Amino acid sequence: MENKRNFAIELDKIMKNPENRGKTLFLHSCCAPCSSYVLEYLRNFFRITVLYYNPNITADEEYEKRVEEQKRLIAEFNVQAEVEAEVSAECSESAFEIAIVEGNYDKQLFFDSVKGLEKCKEGGERCFVCYELRLAETAKQAKQLGMDYFTTTLTISPLKNAVKLNEIGERLAKEQGVMWLPSDFKKKGGYQRSIELSKEYDLYRQNYCGCIYSKMERETSSY
Ligand code: SF4
Repeated sequence: MENKRNFAIELDKIMKNPENRGKTLFLHSCCAPCSSYVLEYLRNFFRITVLYYNPNITADEEYEKRVEEQKRLIAEFNVQAEVEAEVSAECSESAFEIAIVEGNYDKQLFFDSVKGLEKCKEGGERCFVCYELRLAETAKQAKQLGMDYFTTTLTISPLKNAVKLNEIGERLAKEQGVMWLPSDFKKKGGYQRSIELSKEYDLYRQNYCGCIYSKMERETSSY
């Protein structure tokens, strides 16, 4: 029987190696709440550039709301890091500044990609195509920008398939020649911490994933 991998432990092993500190990480983010814990967890170790690339979000106003919250959170984290660095100037382990780039918001690309899979339930085949779409762009840009690693915040969600995300990430890493940072951010209390941080920073927290199909599914579900 194949050994079940623990991606959270694999990530921690990478972060235990001091030679990896300060390496560049291109982090695909789906939204501010999911990124909150991930940024808190990684920002003292990696030089992070967030890629906000989510053409899967159907409604323009929803997209705008989420991207603005993402920018606000990063700005607040950076101010906080600056203050902390001033207070403990001698500390070499202070957080790195986080940068952000916004990808193309091309909804049609998403709809074309998931054609025929509209009726799939959240977590099924349509989502795998959606992961692939977003991670492929992340890997491509990571390569263009000369990043050391790339990964995604998506593994923090209990509704996302972390095994599949890591499988896609590893394949794209080979194709592009950029290292994939393994993750299962929901582990080690990550998901719970993202809820706490969302409250702390008063983040807009949507109640559906992003596409029109997930919105309809949420509206007709009993919870
Ligand atoms: S439910 Fe979420 S992950 Fe799945 S296709 Fe829709 S936006 Fe993408």
